[in-house]
Amino acid sequence: MALEPELVARFAGLVGPGNAVTDPDRLAPHLVEWRGLYRGRTSLMLQPETAAEVSAIMALAGRTRTAIVPQGGNTGLVGGQIPDGSGGQIILSLSRMDAIRNVDAAGGIITVEAGATLQAVQDTADAADRLFPLSLASQASAQIGGVLSTNAGGTTALAFGVARDLCLGLEVVLASGEILHGLRSLKKDNRGYDLRNLFIGAEGTLGIITAASLKLFPKPRGTATAFAGLASPARALELLTLAQSRLGASLTSFELSAALPFQFALRHMPALRDPFARSYPWYVLLEASSPVGAAQAQSALAAVLEDALAAELIGDAVPAASDAQARAFWAIREGMSEAQKHEGGSIKHDISLPLAAIPQFMDEAALAVQSVVPGARIACFGHLGDGNLHYNVSQPVGADKASFLARWADMNDAVHAVVSRHGGSFSAEHGIGVLKRDILARSLDPVALATMRSLKNLLDPLGILNPGKVL
Ligand code: ZN
Repeated sequence: MALEPELVARFAGLVGPGNAVTDPDRLAPHLVEWRGLYRGRTSLMLQPETAAEVSAIMALAGRTRTAIVPQGGNTGLVGGQIPDGSGGQIILSLSRMDAIRNVDAAGGIITVEAGATLQAVQDTADAADRLFPLSLASQASAQIGGVLSTNAGGTTALAFGVARDLCLGLEVVLASGEILHGLRSLKKDNRGYDLRNLFIGAEGTLGIITAASLKLFPKPRGTATAFAGLASPARALELLTLAQSRLGASLTSFELSAALPFQFALRHMPALRDPFARSYPWYVLLEASSPVGAAQAQSALAAVLEDALAAELIGDAVPAASDAQARAFWAIREGMSEAQKHEGGSIKHDISLPLAAIPQFMDEAALAVQSVVPGARIACFGHLGDGNLHYNVSQPVGADKASFLARWADMNDAVHAVVSRHGGSFSAEHGIGVLKRDILARSLDPVALATMRSLKNLLDPLGILNPGKVL
């Protein structure tokens, strides 16, 4: 049911003129996510500037039973940030709440509002000679509130953990409108239950994150980057073990790609060059960091790669000879998702597995994919160091996109069955949203699911916080 004009006016009055968006042209980009899988409707998006305004919005939402859909940079991949098709839900954009409240370089803490982009947080940390390590392809747009609400992972989780591991405290507006002041800046703090972790990864269904205190780290004085070409995921795991034993925590990224997404990136981004003289079935992008300097990182990484060559774990390795070449290597890796769009329909899986199970998983999942759509092309890449794979499946060459995408659920079921057999997860770093809500309901341990539903009922008894998402 669409929002009544009188209700729109009451909500608009809470944020002041200009900050209640009702123009359909301005609303349009907020009603679809970037893959185009989910489209919603609404006649109102609110852009509050303070937690007090968010509090007033939630209080009115409670009194009027109006559903609120929080939205950050709209880079989410599971539809969690898009309102439903009823027209009766309001988008709450945190974009104007983008202040950096405090940087404590010595204490290793940055306190930021939810609408600050991940890039802005990284840049601010860098200017204070510190590192905020979380890194995503979408970081120029992705906002901290969304990053925490989806518990994003990215390319540095191997060394620094996922969003959850980087958060010390949160300010959250509850469904009641009360503000939970939890911007703690303590690494050790055992005062009761850990409420912060309830809201991280909850996709706005338990409260609205309005600010966060985050961990900073010493800034590396140099990094080294290299691509390796190799024969199989099993070899890649051996390389990972070797690299970790030599480099320890200074191994900051270990990204795996099959040949196909690597070729997609080169094909559709003509500015990029293949670093290798020949092709390999698999590739690994490694990054090492050093507290001393680039030369140290480079020699440590080169020693690992020399030994890997001698042990025949890899066929070849190409170290980046310059910062520009390192950026070009990362552009290949980060362009894989976008490049896949040019290859027709793509069915996605964001999965994680115990490392040891990955080679066997690859063999079995390939058979499962072919049994659903013969000729489908597996474009698997991901964060091997975390056991997290983006096991994407592109349509067969020349196939009809719509009829391929119509097999989405069947393909998911087939791949997730293999994941489940090996003790893995069907949702590693993108969240549940709408896309995986039914899978969660079907496959999660019933006691865990019931506990989650109890928490939802406790914190949002009226069902006004991002309804229809996650649960
Ligand atoms: Zn990823």
